[in-house]
Amino acid sequence: MKVSIRGAAQVLLPPEDGLPYLRRPSELRLEPGSVTAEDGVIVALEDDPGADVIIDAAGRAVIPGFVDCHTHLPFAGWRAQEYEQKVTGVPYEEIARGGGGIAASARALAAASDAEVLAQALEVREEMREWGTTTVEAKTGYGLSRDGELRLARLARRVGDRVTGLFAHAIPEGYDAAGWMDEVDALAAAADVDALDIYVESVAFRNEDLERLGEIARREGVPLRAHVEQFNANRSVPVALAAGARSVDHLACLHPDDLAPLAAAECAAVLLPGAEFLGAEELAPGRALADAGAICVLATDCNPGTSPVAALPVVVGLAVRRYGWTVREALAACTLNAAWVLGFGDRGTIEVGKRADLVVLDGPVEHIPYRFGHNPVAEVVTA
Ligand SMILES: [Zn+2]
Repeated sequence: MKVSIRGAAQVLLPPEDGLPYLRRPSELRLEPGSVTAEDGVIVALEDDPGADVIIDAAGRAVIPGFVDCHTHLPFAGWRAQEYEQKVTGVPYEEIARGGGGIAASARALAAASDAEVLAQALEVREEMREWGTTTVEAKTGYGLSRDGELRLARLARRVGDRVTGLFAHAIPEGYDAAGWMDEVDALAAAADVDALDIYVESVAFRNEDLERLGEIARREGVPLRAHVEQFNANRSVPVALAAGARSVDHLACLHPDDLAPLAAAECAAVLLPGAEFLGAEELAPGRALADAGAICVLATDCNPGTSPVAALPVVVGLAVRRYGWTVREALAACTLNAAWVLGFGDRGTIEVGKRADLVVLDGPVEHIPYRFGHNPVAEVVTA
């Protein structure tokens, strides 16, 4: 089947074909034009009057489908009550003592059937699609036991285009960090995952555990990712870089001395402004990272605790306002650069030969951050 998107006011195009990522997204071009796809692949940057489906894009923009490279799907239930407690000033320790936090999500997951977990996750995934997201990463992490994590890895495969094993998310009861890392080692060998991830924070795992996960990831031949510097500057970035990490995620408390080495490395800075906003966290130095030429990435961090956000256009709006980014910078961060984090070289830009994951907006790209909270997506075309 052939689909022709005709006469767009703006088509978002890379400065050249075949780039793995963009360190200078101002090089992205926005030009009037058309795009034609056949059997799920972009075949021409012009219209085809003989196509089976013709989409009139006059006055509209055509961009690559969004890639959400950091979500915590699948999970069970939500934690709205905790959010109200948090914003009205109940300390997190008290919420946690009352059985809240990650433990609450772990209990909900354990109590839910596979069918229930999948139904909720696929519903969120459908919501993401309505907001223009065509590629989604899924993670484990709420299993909090060996069997629970193996189950979640299996379910995540039916939800995400890539599955990340976040086996080192929280330390389960009865373990210390080092003891649970032995289980993580075994899980990494047993589970079918595409990457490994760890949550490094004072209440979770340590830099030495990150170092060990780096060795495990090398052994398994999968990329290493890490949640770092969310609430404290733990100086985990140099450790992650030395371990060859594909991405470091959060960075709200990035130490100033670690910015230049990160920007120079082939390691993405995955920023999560939804979590920063809803958690009243520090702000990652998004402007400085972009100025230094880092591989900047945006994602929703979609999870029931700190960021129950599914819409990447909302995240784009937050990034533009709070980091002082241009819309081109924000769009590169959740298309091509995010695809690189997930190891997808076949998507993320509009090029002949790439997957036809395309979004037609209802106006120009500048409206995405400006009409904050409005869903700018008119049509989603997927391969
Ligand atoms: Zn996360």
